[in-house]
Amino acid sequence: MLNLDTKVENMVGVGPKTALKLQKLGIEKVSDLLYHFPARYDDLSKVTRIADVKVGQTCCIEGKIVDIKNQRSPKKRIFITHALLSDQAGSIKAIWFNRPFLTRVLKRGENIILAGKLEYGPAGIYLNNPIYEKEAGILPVYPETEGLNSKYLRKLIKSAIHLASQINDFLPNEVKKHQNLIDIDKAIRQIHFPTNQSVILRAKSRLAFDELFLLQIKMLKMRKDWQENKAPKMIFDKKTIQSLVKKLPFRLTDAQRKAAWEILLDLQKDIPMNRLLEGDVGSGKTIVAAIAMLVVAKNKYQSLLLVPTEILAIQHFGSLIKVFSDFNIKVGLLTQGKNEINGHKVQRKELLEKIQEGRVDVVVGTHALLQEKVSFNKLGLAIVDEQHRFGVEQRATLRRKSFAPHLLSMSATPIPRSLSLAMYGDLDLSILDEMPKGRQKVKTFFIPPNKRESAYRFVTKQIKNRRQVFVICPLIEESDKLGVKAATKEYQKLKKEIFPEYSVGLLHGKMKTKEKETAMHNFKSGKYAILVSTAVVEVGVDIPNATVMIIEGADRFGLAQLHQFRGRVGRGKHQSYCFLFSDSSSEKTKKRLLFLVKFQDGFKLAEQDLEIRGPGELYGIKQHGFWDFKMASLKDVITIQKARKEAKNIMKSGLESYPAILSKIKEFEAGRKLE
Ligand code: ADP
Ligand code: MG
Repeated sequence: MLNLDTKVENMVGVGPKTALKLQKLGIEKVSDLLYHFPARYDDLSKVTRIADVKVGQTCCIEGKIVDIKNQRSPKKRIFITHALLSDQAGSIKAIWFNRPFLTRVLKRGENIILAGKLEYGPAGIYLNNPIYEKEAGILPVYPETEGLNSKYLRKLIKSAIHLASQINDFLPNEVKKHQNLIDIDKAIRQIHFPTNQSVILRAKSRLAFDELFLLQIKMLKMRKDWQENKAPKMIFDKKTIQSLVKKLPFRLTDAQRKAAWEILLDLQKDIPMNRLLEGDVGSGKTIVAAIAMLVVAKNKYQSLLLVPTEILAIQHFGSLIKVFSDFNIKVGLLTQGKNEINGHKVQRKELLEKIQEGRVDVVVGTHALLQEKVSFNKLGLAIVDEQHRFGVEQRATLRRKSFAPHLLSMSATPIPRSLSLAMYGDLDLSILDEMPKGRQKVKTFFIPPNKRESAYRFVTKQIKNRRQVFVICPLIEESDKLGVKAATKEYQKLKKEIFPEYSVGLLHGKMKTKEKETAMHNFKSGKYAILVSTAVVEVGVDIPNATVMIIEGADRFGLAQLHQFRGRVGRGKHQSYCFLFSDSSSEKTKKRLLFLVKFQDGFKLAEQDLEIRGPGELYGIKQHGFWDFKMASLKDVITIQKARKEAKNIMKSGLESYPAILSKIKEFEAGRKLE
């Protein structure tokens, strides 16, 4: 007897070869088959009278086969099948190439439906290579693999569709009622064998809702599990914080104050914090993090600041030492190439020992921190900067790293709020939606090839005024993963041909730590007028005197990423500029880049990116591992919000009272590796 767990190879009509092909589509069991959804539908439900069809149009007709025969084309050695069909009002020819078996399937005298394009050739008017069906209806067209066509899949699914009634309809009745959703068996039946267009939509809504709902449940559960741990309570006194804040060369923005306050309140609890601090490039996240680390150190606990690149680690290390200079806080730096404490070189072994003994209060580091056996004495707070750069896996490692530190993630990727709820539903959110005072707009220009010269002349003037310039290069070859070749080539060109009288520096991921550092140092100190770089500088780097950001091949980057690059300039008091160089003549590309010219606001740009390129391309989502929904879309903000609301209600009344959901979650997790 067939059931949902039956392996497809045990179904009638599925041989070992077919089973392998099905496997390629991810179909192993009958239930997978039922969840293999059509990519689209061919509507053969509306037939036109043969007398009314027009040449050049795609049409669908119904008629009796008056004649059908195969012919071998003498020259080309191909089979041509000719058929003649007629209905009450007319008749029409149909032609297929290389499908001799058709004469066995379609018999004279039979009634069939044909759909295809009506063309005109030497032999008159004919339907070219039409699809055929014996009954009118809406036909699902499946994502296919070679040798498994939709016709076959339809037949196979039909033989199992009665099992739809055995699917676990995990969605509680009250949710279905609230959200006006149909039962799962009905949805599965109708997605495969719809009777009209509107039932397809109903089926899709139910199936999409399921995925988003399960994701939300999963995240809320993760959050709950996380919060069942105990974290150390951090007491803070306002005086200490004020003494740090007073010393800063600027006033905190209201948004920074609010975010810091939210974080401090979290730290006071023995429930581990799990918060995302989101703020556009330059909104000042680091200092907010520093305030939290100060409080943690005062409570005699350690903090860890994890960053994606070495350059950034070194920079943060430097600024933290400065910020903490009055506080007797020991800051350590741990990267692949560098080990330091408060600016003094130490042996790696010594550093690791001191961390373990609790004699370093704040540790700044890169991935090295995660990979190695770094053990902390009393880790109270872990901060992940530019968290979208870290994979889900890595975030998970961090949680396992110690019993349960407070966790703060920081991201400069402004994503629309609803999307961030979908992606980071397990996190609380603090948003820096206000830029520090006096930040100027970075004037942005789209530069086609014929304006390149004049852009360079402009840049020369900036350099003469002692300003500095970034040049970002995209990857030009697949094999050039780190962009070494691209950047090196551009560097040579600028140095020799375009700006021979100025000093040009180079920065890419393949350089040794020492070399990278020297390059950054030389740029920071003003020795280089121009720094040619790969996307390495994209994150974090702070050079207030740089006023020009040139992006080569700008069309190759997403808006969010371009916005990050642009955030590298406009950090000082001088007017800054961003030039988007592009050789692309596509209007679409130009239109996309012009958004950047028009908008300075990262949130707006992220929304545009989402609109144009879809969520898969949005920064960080790829690492997240759930862009491969079968039906749901991360663009579907409304359903995301509804699913979240319902999931919250369920969690409130206790997930244990919903065994059907729990078992579905298990299934869902087995199917797609979330966290
Ligand atoms: P991001 O949010 O991109 O990480 P940073 O924390 O690196 O931003 O801050 C960018 C720059 O702005 C730094 O030089 C920092 O010292 C400065 N800064 C931070 N907060 C303020 C503020 N309230 N007013 C002026 N400058 C600030
Ligand atoms: Mg930053």
